[in-house]
Amino acid sequence: MIDPSGNGAPPALHELTRRGPKARRAPVIVDRLLAEYGEDPVELDHDGVFQLLVATILSAQSTDKKVNEVTKTLFAKYREPADYLAVQDEELQEDLRPTGFFRQKTKALKGVCAALLERYDGEVPLRIADLISLPGVARKTANVVLGEAAPEEHLADPDAGIAVDTHVKRLSRRLGFTRQVDPIRIERDMMNLLPKQQWPRASLVIILHGRRVCVAQRPRCGDCLIEDLCPSSLAAGRRDLAGQARGLG
Ligand code: SF4
Repeated sequence: MIDPSGNGAPPALHELTRRGPKARRAPVIVDRLLAEYGEDPVELDHDGVFQLLVATILSAQSTDKKVNEVTKTLFAKYREPADYLAVQDEELQEDLRPTGFFRQKTKALKGVCAALLERYDGEVPLRIADLISLPGVARKTANVVLGEAAPEEHLADPDAGIAVDTHVKRLSRRLGFTRQVDPIRIERDMMNLLPKQQWPRASLVIILHGRRVCVAQRPRCGDCLIEDLCPSSLAAGRRDLAGQARGLG
């Protein structure tokens, strides 16, 4: 009998393998990642949804470590949306400078804070449609913020989906969940594969696995908790389906 797992021993007929249908593998893979990382899936330090939104905006083109260094003092100085609007741009730019792109981030943050005050009484709305109506907030940020800060609202929201960043893009291809490169199409493929109750945190735990184990260059397949279900496992001599040669990070 041919061994479809590539591991040597023939699998039992009911056993799920790396060559099993993606519709069966995907929820099992995400379940394992949730069990491993689900307790604390966001590495951005925050207290409440507003701070999470601010930290997520600052994390663009930066590392969570750098953002956490900055927000440690930032969140003590600026507590509410009005606080960000009360200072001159130059002062906020200096506070954000270490995260990079500080002029754009100052503009984005002030735009979001102004919209929160004008339209939502200074509170962060817990609906995807409202979140993406804020200036500079895209589906990815909206899904990360709502999925982490308000998973129940995320579950009930007809516009909610799955955040696709560079890690989700890479892993979803490596794991054979999609062949797409466009984030919107990847999101659609993932939504078709995963049960809705996994949506709020699926991308959060996939992102963590992408940072810690399934890194872009030389994924650590030997240490991977989903290796037996991965069609790209280098440990099993498989080819990387993410297509690194085509520039996917
Ligand atoms: S087996 Fe390797 S390629 Fe597959 S998910 Fe794990 S680390 Fe990534």
